[in-house]
Amino acid sequence: MTHYFRALLCSFLLLLCGHTVWGAPQALTVSTLDQFDDEFKSVPCKNDDRQEAVKTLFEKMGVTASEMAIDKYKRVENVVIRKQGTSDGVIVVGAHYDKVNDGCGAVDNWTGIVTIAHLYRSLKSVATQKTILFVGFGKEEEGLVGSRAMVDKIKTNEEYCAMINVDSLGLAVPLVMDNTSNGKLGKATEELAKEMKIPFTHARIDKANADSSSFLARGIPALTISGLTNDWPKILHSRKDQSTIVIPDSVFLGYRLALALVTRVDTLPCDVYKY
Ligand SMILES: [Zn+2]
Repeated sequence: MTHYFRALLCSFLLLLCGHTVWGAPQALTVSTLDQFDDEFKSVPCKNDDRQEAVKTLFEKMGVTASEMAIDKYKRVENVVIRKQGTSDGVIVVGAHYDKVNDGCGAVDNWTGIVTIAHLYRSLKSVATQKTILFVGFGKEEEGLVGSRAMVDKIKTNEEYCAMINVDSLGLAVPLVMDNTSNGKLGKATEELAKEMKIPFTHARIDKANADSSSFLARGIPALTISGLTNDWPKILHSRKDQSTIVIPDSVFLGYRLALALVTRVDTLPCDVYKY
């Protein structure tokens, strides 16, 4: 499966197998497929180890101590990395780091954490217009606790342009979860996928919720990218969710799409995706 997937990927997307960037600012550092392979050789399986592992991963990507904070709320802790923009507006790039008791939480959601860490790595040397907050959310599995806590603290004078959430890549081509996503942002993602010739789909997955919903509830355009197959309920939240089932190519494509989306949102006026 993996090899077939990769052959397909590299034949359609020759450039994506190397460092070349399409239409992106020169300072963008694009991670490679091999790097995504390496990230899944082991995955922290214990919930208690995950927050520390998130910090270690971001440090590996070049985050300095002054950029990273643990936002502590009554019930939950979020890891927040702040990249200051050159003008107003905030983009949140998020993924939850907690997991359920069963399995290793490799698909759900170490794939998301790896993706946002590589997004940070790619963007760290680029002067972005908007401030980007890379957030590892806690306790998503207990009812979007971390993202709700963050949203509750957003002040009315702060301009949040978009929230891009990554949850459960790794099983198939990138997918936008329509039921937890802003339609305009979903459409923009679809157009980018077409431009970049990245296989893409979108679907309602009514049984699933994600941290983007917390931001949508506050009127902030938000979207969740995942990479699920139809049999995801047999894998997620089960013993089968191990690093061995993660298809790095799926995570890599999700990362490429998310990177293009963040870059696009950054260059447009803040209210473009608002209803
Ligand atoms: Zn999840």
